[in-house]
Amino acid sequence: MLGPPGAGKGTQAKLLQERFAACQISTGDILRKAVADQTPLGKEASAYIDRGALVPDVVIVNLVAERLKDKDCEAGFILDGFPRTIPQAKSLDEILTKMGRGLNRVLSVKVPKDVIIQRLAGRRTCRSCGALSHKVFNPPKKEGVCDRCGGELFQRDDDREETVAHRLSVYETQTAPLVDYYRRMGILQEIDGVGKIDDIRDRVIKALGEGVA
Ligand code: AMP
Repeated sequence: MLGPPGAGKGTQAKLLQERFAACQISTGDILRKAVADQTPLGKEASAYIDRGALVPDVVIVNLVAERLKDKDCEAGFILDGFPRTIPQAKSLDEILTKMGRGLNRVLSVKVPKDVIIQRLAGRRTCRSCGALSHKVFNPPKKEGVCDRCGGELFQRDDDREETVAHRLSVYETQTAPLVDYYRRMGILQEIDGVGKIDDIRDRVIKALGEGVA
């Protein structure tokens, strides 16, 4: 899943995971857990995450390579928030080739900047399971409590306005070039990411079933 922060990649990846019994690999979720658990990875990553910068490619690539070996990824996998740079995409190609696997589709979720800013300002993340909700667009049944697992909902530091602007510019310069990279590989599908979660899910599922443009 490709797209700027707040495009809905995480929300849609979680829905796809439930539907297709594939594993979801969210590098952001993995890093946030490592930060919370104060592991060496978390200590290294936190300074980058806090300022909305990208964690070095080598760190991320190793993390994904390990995760892909897990049993729950055997039937399939959904990558969310990875790759985020051309070098990451090239490393991913090498890793998958070695494993005798490959990417079927790359979905680029398109959302205008003003919608992204609205979404990120109200976004809340579950401290325990990483599920996402929104104060206005997708509120939890009980304020501050995750519908999925009962965990505590909080606002990510990097969802605050000051950091969001930087994350968007990092997306434009470092990640957006991946859209053309995958278009040239012939596996890109573009999705309109504006609207209700269920409607976007239907577009995603339709795009997965269709040939590529
Ligand atoms: P996300 O939850 O995907 O928005 O990721 C939150 C933060 O984690 C990003 O702003 C980066 O600091 C870091 N991060 C997540 N995925 C990657 C990646 N593929 N490459 C580099 N940094 C990443």
